[in-house]
Amino acid sequence: MTSVKQLLLKPLLMPGFPALLKYAQRDCATVFMLHRFRDPERGIAGCDSSHLRQALGYLTRNGYELVSLVELFERLGGKGPQARGAVAFTIDDGYLEQATVAAPIFAQFGCPVTTFVTTGFLDGKLWFWWDQIEYLFQHAARRSAQVRFGDEVLDYRWEREEERALAKDDFTARCKIIPQAEKPAVIAQLAAATQVDLPAAPPAAYAPMSWNQARECEQMGMTFGPHTVTHPVLSRSANEVAAHEITESWARLRAEVRKPVPVFCYPYGWWADFGEREVDLLRALGFLGALAAEPGYANALAFRSNEDDRFKVRRFGFPDELPHMIQYVSGVERFKQLLRRSP
Ligand SMILES: [Zn+2]
Repeated sequence: MTSVKQLLLKPLLMPGFPALLKYAQRDCATVFMLHRFRDPERGIAGCDSSHLRQALGYLTRNGYELVSLVELFERLGGKGPQARGAVAFTIDDGYLEQATVAAPIFAQFGCPVTTFVTTGFLDGKLWFWWDQIEYLFQHAARRSAQVRFGDEVLDYRWEREEERALAKDDFTARCKIIPQAEKPAVIAQLAAATQVDLPAAPPAAYAPMSWNQARECEQMGMTFGPHTVTHPVLSRSANEVAAHEITESWARLRAEVRKPVPVFCYPYGWWADFGEREVDLLRALGFLGALAAEPGYANALAFRSNEDDRFKVRRFGFPDELPHMIQYVSGVERFKQLLRRSP
């Protein structure tokens, strides 16, 4: 962040100031989305523990309501007090350090948090395809890879680290949109091209938490919601596949944890990644709602005026810098949205 921006955001760190902006938040709540947490022992980059503590400390000291997802959905729907600036935390996927690093920190601050688990991952049946790609590019024996991809031959060459990262990102983006069943063959080709043996089970850096750990996390206050069985793009899956991914992940979750949260979280979560078919199924299964990954606030007005809105709740990626987080929760970001919308 630039120093000018830091200077502009500085008043937000002063006690009392955020209250001035709360009026902009009257119909809005902030839902944050987290993924990986920094764990030096396993070589994992991600949200830093001290940053998370600092952020939760800030929210607690400044009187923000930290609410569970169930409470949030009830309040957005008109039950109980207005959501007015409430903040909810979510974590996606079910990685090990979400249990070992994140759960104790959220517990320390008494902050509710819901982790959305890919049940096949916790069941030991898979490791994520994007992690496999990262692993292959990281361990590549050579600085190039040629992979047949549909009608194309992709020809990646890299010298510097940034070039390798670009190649990995390009390959990952292409893999996202092919059917889930076709991914293993393409990734096997990449493994051959990079001359890396792809382990059958995830290496430590990409490992899931166990169901036992999930139950221990529940005792610390963390709750769990379903995030499909294999993490496909639902909108690109056949009807019966999409239905199975949703119903089976919900069934596995209910079998393993004590208080499963009846809120679903779409894999990837952009508007293009799910549709009416998923919304209809979730409603039929009795879910309270569902979370997307499109950035934005959870808005009570939209929630009450459109039946589908509770199945398309937006989230913000949890920012790496405290001033940015404050910008979201304090209403500055909301204020900016309102300004942009006015003529
Ligand atoms: Zn996910």
